[in-house]
Amino acid sequence: MIGRALGGAVRNLAATARSAVTDVVTGAAYLGDLVTDRVADRDPGDAVLRVAVLILSDQDGPLTSEAAVLPSLTKADAILRQQAGIGVRTVSVRTVREPAPVTALDPRANQKLLLDDMMGRTDLYRRYLPAGSGVGAPVTVVVVRDIAGRTTGCSLGMTADWVICQRSLFDADNPNAYDDTVLAHEIGHALNLPHHSDPQNLMFPTSSPPGAVRGTELRRWQALVLNANRHTIPAIRSSARP
Ligand SMILES: [Zn+2]
Repeated sequence: MIGRALGGAVRNLAATARSAVTDVVTGAAYLGDLVTDRVADRDPGDAVLRVAVLILSDQDGPLTSEAAVLPSLTKADAILRQQAGIGVRTVSVRTVREPAPVTALDPRANQKLLLDDMMGRTDLYRRYLPAGSGVGAPVTVVVVRDIAGRTTGCSLGMTADWVICQRSLFDADNPNAYDDTVLAHEIGHALNLPHHSDPQNLMFPTSSPPGAVRGTELRRWQALVLNANRHTIPAIRSSARP
């Protein structure tokens, strides 16, 4: 058992080392994208965060739909744009039609998720992540069926380019579960933000719809953290101003 766990850990470390080698090339490619994005969007003031969505399927079909996830993506864009000057660009929404194994559908949270990741139980997610892990690497939101306990979303922080969100968060017909702040909250973790004690803050740990949904505010220092990491492609500022 331990041997297998170690094998998985070594495999994943090897994968990390491989992707580090390609960072220089993919970083340049992303910056190239950035320039074209700018021209297309005419939005030179904002930094850009690329987000991908991966929807898993079980025996009954896809866990949710692209249309159902869209409001949470729009909300994340509105929050990060307003509070941190970062536009969220959705680069892909993919549905994996092949039923996923139970370990991928119903993952565990926090430290146990880290353990599962090292043991290879989240390898399925990696298989479908967009290429590149360097500068401007997208954060992928993996929609899973059920996370153990009362957790509805989880991130491994800067160590992973993906976060998980439970499908019930996107079910607009279920007001007791629907919560469009969780996707943005988990992206916050992926960009290195810790929890915050103010319930009005996006990084407040708990959110209990429909009554006590956390706020969407970010402090200035949080905005700085969001802007100062490898996922966020900096804004191009005019050099005309002194
Ligand atoms: Zn959290």
